[in-house]
Amino acid sequence: MPPLLELRNVKMYYGVTNGVVKAVDGVSFVLNKGEAMALVGESGSGKSSLAFTIIRLLPRNVAEFSGEILLHDEELGTVDLAKMSEEELRRKIRWKKISMVFQASMNALNPILKVQDQMVEPLVLHLGLSKQEAIKIAEEALLSVGLAKDVLTRYPFELSGGMKQRVVIAMAIMMKPKLVILDEPTSALDVITQANIMNLLKELKAKFDLSYILITHDIALASEIADKIGVMYAGKIVEIAPSDIFFRKPKHPYSQKLLAAVPSLREEKAIEYIPGDVPSLINPPTGCRFHPRCPYMIKGKCEREEPPRKQVEGSEVACWLY
Ligand code: ATP
Ligand code: SF4
Ligand code: MG
Repeated sequence: MPPLLELRNVKMYYGVTNGVVKAVDGVSFVLNKGEAMALVGESGSGKSSLAFTIIRLLPRNVAEFSGEILLHDEELGTVDLAKMSEEELRRKIRWKKISMVFQASMNALNPILKVQDQMVEPLVLHLGLSKQEAIKIAEEALLSVGLAKDVLTRYPFELSGGMKQRVVIAMAIMMKPKLVILDEPTSALDVITQANIMNLLKELKAKFDLSYILITHDIALASEIADKIGVMYAGKIVEIAPSDIFFRKPKHPYSQKLLAAVPSLREEKAIEYIPGDVPSLINPPTGCRFHPRCPYMIKGKCEREEPPRKQVEGSEVACWLY
């Protein structure tokens, strides 16, 4: 069976006054049906940009966009989202095949517009459903995320943060997509509510055989649900590995630093901070982009040549140490 989603050398650069921001710079990976991939990496590494690129919701200042974004779908066959028209994406792909929970989206719900209006309107407007059909779909989706139907008639200001996030997740799953991209879905919530939302995501994944791309700063959270982990650094994926292998033995020096920066409840250990800043994506470092911060940097090699991604003991790593 072909994978659900396959990215091949995807690039997306933003044009700014002083150059181009190489936010997504040659990203390739495969996501299987029913699989959850967590995308981790520091702020500004390009995670949200990659998400927007996949669903093709790009701002006007895009300077370059290339590569293939292949979706293998039972109904549509294999389609390249990178080549689809805006009209086709709207009619065939968004909501129905791929949906997205945007970063901070629960706060984007309009507090003085009833949930019903916000859930039903896109279905009527973009997918041409009747209002009656749309209400029925919205009610079912609310039940799936553990909310009562009558939440439809409430205003977001009447709901708790956890309930609002459930509404946003209900919107993402209501058209039964195959893939849901979740951009920091729990970062605005307290720890208990975070755990409840993660449990909900696990339930929905099993129930609807969903695939996820889960973007998070929180590696501990990623370990709860992800079948595999992709580590993004300065616009590139530097390591991608099955979760069990990744957490047992992260191979890229940046992945090792990321894990060492996670506080542990069980053992007393000093948290290590990653020295230096995320590099500029306008003038990224030459060779391996991590070389200015890497303790293992090989002089004469790492700052000159970009390491290709290689198979190393079940992981894929882009580093000259391997
Ligand atoms: P965070 O974890 O903080 O959400 P991120 O990994 O999601 O970060 P992005 O938001 O994808 O990172 O940003 C990647 C880079 O692209 C950053 O340098 C950011 O400033 C830049 N960027 C994002 N959107 C635009 C835009 N519309 N125009 C120009 N540059 C942008
Ligand atoms: Fe460090 Fe070199 Fe590996 Fe980059 S390629 S992570 S600089 S050892
Ligand atoms: Mg982001």
